[in-house]
Amino acid sequence: MFEAVVALCLAAEPKICRARLVPGYRMASLSGCEAALNSSPPLMNFLVTNFPQRLIAAPPHCQQTGPEAAVIEAAPGLFVHMGAVADVSAANAGDVSNSGFIIGTRGVAVIDSGGSRQVGEELYRAIRSQTDLPILYVILTHMHPDHVLGASVFAEAGARVVGHEALPRALADRAQTYLANFELLTGAQALIGTQPVLPDEVITATSSLDLGGRVISLQAWPNAHTGTDLTVGDPTSGILFAGDLLFHRHAPALDGSVLGWRRVLTQMQSLLYTQVVPGHGGPLLPWPDAAAPLQDYLEVLITETRAAITRGDTLGEAVQTIAFGEADAWELFDLFNARNATVAYTELEWE
Ligand SMILES: [Zn+2]
Repeated sequence: MFEAVVALCLAAEPKICRARLVPGYRMASLSGCEAALNSSPPLMNFLVTNFPQRLIAAPPHCQQTGPEAAVIEAAPGLFVHMGAVADVSAANAGDVSNSGFIIGTRGVAVIDSGGSRQVGEELYRAIRSQTDLPILYVILTHMHPDHVLGASVFAEAGARVVGHEALPRALADRAQTYLANFELLTGAQALIGTQPVLPDEVITATSSLDLGGRVISLQAWPNAHTGTDLTVGDPTSGILFAGDLLFHRHAPALDGSVLGWRRVLTQMQSLLYTQVVPGHGGPLLPWPDAAAPLQDYLEVLITETRAAITRGDTLGEAVQTIAFGEADAWELFDLFNARNATVAYTELEWE
């Protein structure tokens, strides 16, 4: 198969480039792709929007399709990609969170988009290997960069971007910082062509989207993992995409409210789904049983933070001890637990 790309290079270091996929020109032959490109060239307006790096663009051209995300068909028409249980690095280009897509008779909904344009493009190719139906929606489960930075390829392909009502503001405030932080972890090359996209449509409580013969359910939650958490349920298969309201193997990351997260996780367990895709780990687990390890972690975090505050521990002392008994239960524990303890301490010291 062949596809159109635009070679983007760093203005400061023109040898560092990345071929950025232009969606919509996938063809079985090179000549077919080139004919499509000539007869209806892409709008190039995305090249002047706010990239983190200053870039030079070559005219679009066709080449053999690039790498495709590995996916499993968890249920008929429902596919899941499992990100690495790892920190963001040059090697994974931000492919450290789970994503998926659901196919109806009318079109496709994508759930989360990976941590860079490159990861989003790989997911886009995996979708195109399954169906030529239009990509109607890209649903972002929350604001974190490893879930949202791949979304631009779907927006360019015509998808509406859907998120929690608090997501537009949260992303507008944080996106440039997220990009700068990710660039430190991946290096500049991996992030070439990555830019944030803001939601076209927001969810305030619950809502549904009709993909044609398949209606999926969206639910916006109060402050928990973050202030922008949204779950996506597919009643047809009984599968729930929990975003980072559920972690598995990968240490939980608290960026909202520890009490709120415990409350939301309890409420989620009464949702009538039988399997769940967590934001990290899994990628397909029994529901609600899969909530137990995270529930335990949040209980320990709350109990031990309250104890530290009662003892009069300073924040600096508290983060050295809180929830350390959980260290063996989670990968990447040292990377996330101290920050979780800090967030919990700051929240609970005012009780
Ligand atoms: Zn997250």
